[in-house]
Amino acid sequence: MPKYDYDLFTIGAGSGGVRASRFSANFGARVAVAEERFMGGTCVNVGCIPKKLFAYASHFSEDFENAAGFGWSIGERKFDWPTLVENKNKEIERLNGIYERLLNAAKVEIFKARARVVDPHTIEVAGKRVTAEHILVATGGWPVVPDIPGKELAITSNEAFFLEKLPGKILIVGGGYIAVEFAGIFGGLGVDVVQLYRGPVFLRGFDDDVRHFLADEMRKKGIDLRFNHNVDCIERSGDKLCAILDSGLEVKVDAVMYCTGRAPNSRGIGLEEAGVELGADGAIKVDDYFQTSVPSIYAIGDVIDRMQLTPVALAEGMAVANTLFNGKRTKMDYANVASAVFSNPNVASVGLTETQAREKYGRVRIFTSDFKALKHTLSGSDERTFMKLVVRREDDRVLGCHMVGPDAGEIVQGMAIALKCGATKAQFDATIGIHPTAAEEFVTMRTAAPDDGEKDGKAA
Ligand code: NDP
Repeated sequence: MPKYDYDLFTIGAGSGGVRASRFSANFGARVAVAEERFMGGTCVNVGCIPKKLFAYASHFSEDFENAAGFGWSIGERKFDWPTLVENKNKEIERLNGIYERLLNAAKVEIFKARARVVDPHTIEVAGKRVTAEHILVATGGWPVVPDIPGKELAITSNEAFFLEKLPGKILIVGGGYIAVEFAGIFGGLGVDVVQLYRGPVFLRGFDDDVRHFLADEMRKKGIDLRFNHNVDCIERSGDKLCAILDSGLEVKVDAVMYCTGRAPNSRGIGLEEAGVELGADGAIKVDDYFQTSVPSIYAIGDVIDRMQLTPVALAEGMAVANTLFNGKRTKMDYANVASAVFSNPNVASVGLTETQAREKYGRVRIFTSDFKALKHTLSGSDERTFMKLVVRREDDRVLGCHMVGPDAGEIVQGMAIALKCGATKAQFDATIGIHPTAAEEFVTMRTAAPDDGEKDGKAA
């Protein structure tokens, strides 16, 4: 008779939790997972997937405009928001079903209920207590709205995916991934968008050239970007909302959307009572193997707040399954994790920004390219594309690769393999380009930007 009901009990069936549960079961463990909200978690239901579908929808407005230069005449254009939401919902339901079937196929027991940790080996779920040798917390995160008067009038990404009506004008607050993505989505769908960011330029943490370039492109597309601004309070004003800014300025809109970060879902599930240590921001503290301060309890994904990215949570889930049930103690390598922002135009990055590289290695060589894509020679669009490579001087290794432009995520994914392999700039140069593409620019940039080392005429 086994000592515990399960070898692993996972709380949360999002990307990380499902991956860890399925693979642990495939390695022979007896696994159960509890999910109180939706199968597939944030990514599938209120994150990456519906966001990308919305981003596709929003891009058609520009595509119709751009088609004229290629000889197309397009008649009356009309966008129906309820159709988009309904079709998106159907697709998400299909994905929910797939997640459930994957778990069933791996013989993982599913509890569609909230679970709470009672002690290091006991969980309370669906009105009963069960025991497990290991508990994995993969409860993700939740949008945070700062405590300002009228905060209850604001929506977050959770609600934006289900709005009954497309607002005529929206105020988006924040300058991270979600804010710039939704500014592009709503802008493309014809909504009048004002985006506020509290600092001098949004997307803190991204390369500075990328941040400025994207801001210029978004402004060209009609987004009213206002930096160094924040909201003091939100009030109702008839059937509109009025946001009063810290400058005293009033912005009247149909909706205010807050995209000011996500907090780990770590409270109210018995973790602290069981002795699990949390950071000041509520993130669960884990070691290199995702073990918390309670040895039988592990945690992965957004709830540990290392990198809030789906593929990272998947890899962390895989690492836990390998460590616990496959005889391979597995750590994560967080170096050179690529990511994309599905703004309009897209941004994608892998490796170090110029600032990070200079801080770490001193002098670096910088290669940039800023051009109008071939398509736009006929489309009439004034959109431009930007690419940048950051190269370590001492050994020619490419440390960072950054892009703003269509399909940046698709292009930079390939570059990420090169960086992971430690490619040098000479190897980039020796790679023959695919012509005519935007991506070929990454292997044809030859002239380094002048920097302190080149002022005295030294070759780049
Ligand atoms: P981010 O942490 O990326 O950005 C939060 C933004 O809100 C920042 O600009 C921040 O400013 C600002 N902010 C924070 N607090 C306040 C405040 N009190 N008042 C005004 N502004 C504030 O969070 P998101 O919500 O955009 O996204 C959460 C995470 O989800 C991301 O970090 C990302 O990891 C992940 N994600 C990934 C996506 C992708 O891969 N494409 C897409 C969407 C989300 P400041 O910079 O000054 O701190």
